[in-house]
Amino acid sequence: MPDRTAVYPGSYDPLTNGHIDIIERGLKIFDKITVAALKNPSKTYLLFLEERLEIIQETFSNNERIEVDYFEGLLVDYLKKRNITTVVRGLRAISDFDIEFQMALINRSMAPSIETIFLVPSVCYSFLSSKLVKEIYLLGGEIKKMVPAIVDKKLKEKFKQFPL
Ligand code: ADP
Repeated sequence: MPDRTAVYPGSYDPLTNGHIDIIERGLKIFDKITVAALKNPSKTYLLFLEERLEIIQETFSNNERIEVDYFEGLLVDYLKKRNITTVVRGLRAISDFDIEFQMALINRSMAPSIETIFLVPSVCYSFLSSKLVKEIYLLGGEIKKMVPAIVDKKLKEKFKQFPL
């Protein structure tokens, strides 16, 4: 049987413990997971693409079943280029369902061979989003329990020089 690989696409601005929970669950199902960060020039990110990728790479440096990559443009084009047909997404709550359902169906309409697998995180991460982490951090709150240590470190390093 060939290796089963899935792509887990997202902004990862920044990577959170919720993303990590989904990746760990995904590894129980797939041989390899490609964590693919989105490069969208029309979106404003807190972290540069290089910083987002470096955080994911360092977090999973000991795990050869995780590959870190990025993509620009349509996810279906990236999947075709990589010859991968499975997408993993996380479902936190009903609020995620609507948009995730739309995206899965629109991707399928563009590329019928693509399947989207939804994984549900641990309850303790079901409230967690990169957006919340950023808001808490920028308002001076503590994010240590929400993100891997390297995120906390990188944010402190970055904004020590240029306070927001
Ligand atoms: P966010 O939605 O937090 O800004 P991303 O765009 O990077 O993050 O999300 C990538 C994928 O990870 C999406 O499918 C999203 O629903 C999922 N995800 C993000 N945070 C969590 C979490 N805490 N638990 C489960 N899935 C999550």
